[in-house]
This record gives sequence, C-alpha cells and structure tokens, in this order.
Amino acid sequence: MRFVHDTLPQRVSFGSGEAAARLEHEIATLGAGRLMLIASKREMDIADSITGNLRVLLRYDDVVMHVPVEVAARAREAAAQHSVDAIVSVGGGSATGLAKAIALTTGLPVIAVPTTYAGSEATAVWGLTEGNRKTTGIDPRVLPKVIVYDATLTLTLPVPISVASGLNALAHCVDAMWAPSADPINAALAAEGIRSLAAGLPKVVTDPFDLNGREMALYASYLSAVAFASAGSGLHHKICHVLGGAYNLPHAQTHAVVLPYVLAFNGPAAPEAAHRIAAAFGTNRAIDGLEDLRREIGAPHALRDYGFAEDAIPEAAEAILPAVPPSNPRPVTVADLERLLSAAWSGADPKTAF
Ligand code: NAD
Repeated sequence: MRFVHDTLPQRVSFGSGEAAARLEHEIATLGAGRLMLIASKREMDIADSITGNLRVLLRYDDVVMHVPVEVAARAREAAAQHSVDAIVSVGGGSATGLAKAIALTTGLPVIAVPTTYAGSEATAVWGLTEGNRKTTGIDPRVLPKVIVYDATLTLTLPVPISVASGLNALAHCVDAMWAPSADPINAALAAEGIRSLAAGLPKVVTDPFDLNGREMALYASYLSAVAFASAGSGLHHKICHVLGGAYNLPHAQTHAVVLPYVLAFNGPAAPEAAHRIAAAFGTNRAIDGLEDLRREIGAPHALRDYGFAEDAIPEAAEAILPAVPPSNPRPVTVADLERLLSAAWSGADPKTAF
C-alpha cells in the first residue's frame, strides 16, 4: 500500500435535539460574540429555534442556490457593515455555500448546522456562479471550523428532497471509489457511508419522523463528503458539474439520476471498487444494490423530468469530455458520454445501457 492522504481539520459535534446547547458551547470555545446567522427564509424558523441564546447581530436570509456572485457580494458587505466575527449557517448546501463565499474573502470562521445531506459542510470546496458559469475552487479558509449535526432539524425535510439529497451523498461515496485521489482511507469512509445510507434512507421514506433513519443518513452525509473532499471529483461529479452549471438543473436530483449510469459504465472496469460498493450494499453486484435501493426509496430517474432537453446532449457531451479525469478506470469518448446522457435523459435501465 502506498498513498498520501490529507485529513481536514474540523470538529464534528453530533447529537439529536442538542444543536442549541452544542452551538452555544462551540461559539464560547471560539470566543466569538458578533454573529451573522445565515439561513434561507424557509429554514429561518429552525435557525431561530437553536440560536436564541447567542448574540446574533445579523439574521441573513438572502440565500440562492449555487451562490450567484452578486448574492455573495451583498452578503460580504453586510458582514463587514456589522463587523461580525463568526458566521453560523443553518440549512442545506445553499446556506453553507453562502457562508463559505464570505469566508473565502474575509477568513471569518464558519460554524455549519446542516439540514440536508449535501455534505458541503465537510469540504473546503467553494462554488460561485456568474451568469451561466459555475466556478468552484478549494481553499482551507472556507472549511467550517465546526459542524453541529442535529437530526431533529432534518425531520421537516420533505421525503422527495430527502431522497434526492441522500442520493447526492451516495454519489459522493460511489464516485470517491475511483476519483483521482482515491485511497484506502477515503474508500473506507465511502463504504461506511454507502452502508449507512442504504440502511437509513428507506427508514426516512417509510417514516420521515424516524429519528434513527435520519441520524444514519446525516452521519453518512458527513462520511460521504469527507470521502469526496479527499478523493476529488470523479467522472460522476464532472458530468453533474457541467449539467448543473450550463443547464441550471437541480443539484441533488441531477446527482440522483446520473449516478446509476456512471456506476454501470465504470463498474465493470473497476472490479475492486465495484466489489466494495456491492459489499456495502450487501448485494452480489454493485449496480443491483444501487438499483434496489433506488426502487425502494422512489428515486428520481430521468433528466428529462428536470428540464434537460434531449437536443442538448451532443453539446453537453463535448463540454464534459475535457473534464473527465485521465485516471478514470475506463477510457471515455464523446460517444460514451452521449450514450450515458441519452440513457439518463430518458431514464433507461442502466443495467442494459452499455
Ligand atoms: P438547498 O440548500 O438549496 O436545499 C434544498 C431545499 O431544501 C431548499 O428548498 C431548502 O429550503 C430545503 N430545506 C433544507 N433544509 C430543510 C429542512 N430541514 N426542512 C425543510 N426544507 C429544507 O440544496 P442542497 O441540495 O442541500 O445543496 C445544494 C447546493 O450545495 C448546491 O449549490 C451545490 O453545488 C452545493 N454543494 C456544495 C458542496 C461542496 O462541497 N462545496 C457539496 C454538495 C453540495
């Protein structure tokens, strides 16, 4: 075994029903006293319910998915006007993303309280959108200092969003198995993430108020993001990045739809990864485990349902090709990408797509 693995410095504080107390403790430890609270309008009630004991100078709800540059500029200005000394973000990847955008230019510490399974809180990846172009980068300043996980805050996440978001986390795990910096440590985290999502998501779908299912999904979303942050973007993330940026497709749903096609394409060329994924699902073949889970939880299944036009496939394939990692286990051509996108567009059976 030979590898180099970076572990990101971050505290994880996990406890259902304890976010308020855990936040208070972490803010005191940080010595912060002028807080900016970021949450979208929809999540502001949740945010207020856990920050009552904190000195919040600025409650900020101008949250937009994929962080348009003008939204980031306004938020940075507001933070400067109030001389805040720390940011608390409560919400999904969009709220976390805005906090990261402020941290990128100010170095302000972020404490993230996630309410979806997107996992942005555990990565040093930032994203900003200008017009139709989404730019991402890696900067240690944007990595939240502390994550406070409280599964009770996710009980209100509607089942269809929980399913899509959970499959977004699963995509981090699966893609980590063959991403450019895949190593035995991130593979172990990814495998545990798959196992925990496969156990937790069906419980969430059967009963959205099943705290144990929610905890398993939230725990897995952290593992998935750590695995992804360390392994880097593989074929799956490169495809979804182009689709999300150029065609404004919804983030989690796009990941949820594309994943089985990437697994069906790469799996046979990456037998060790496929074996680990299958073992985590408890099935003989990786694709069977994924498809069984997707069926059980009613996963999104076709890009055409999310606004992707069939005639955009050739152009999208051309745009994705240069981004495909040279280390992908299977060589990728434009024709392969067109076939993959075409199958994902229509929701064809991934087992027979290649
Ligand atoms: P999101 O934050 O926009 O949330 C999705 C929807 O769920 C929103 O309508 C939100 O209001 C709602 N919601 C969130 N929590 C809720 C709750 N507890 N109850 C009810 N409704 C709730 O979307 P997301 O999928 O969490 O994140 C997507 C964004 O995160 C994208 O911009 C993506 O690029 C980014 N992202 C970044 C990274 C990274 O490492 N930088 C990783 C994953 C995702």
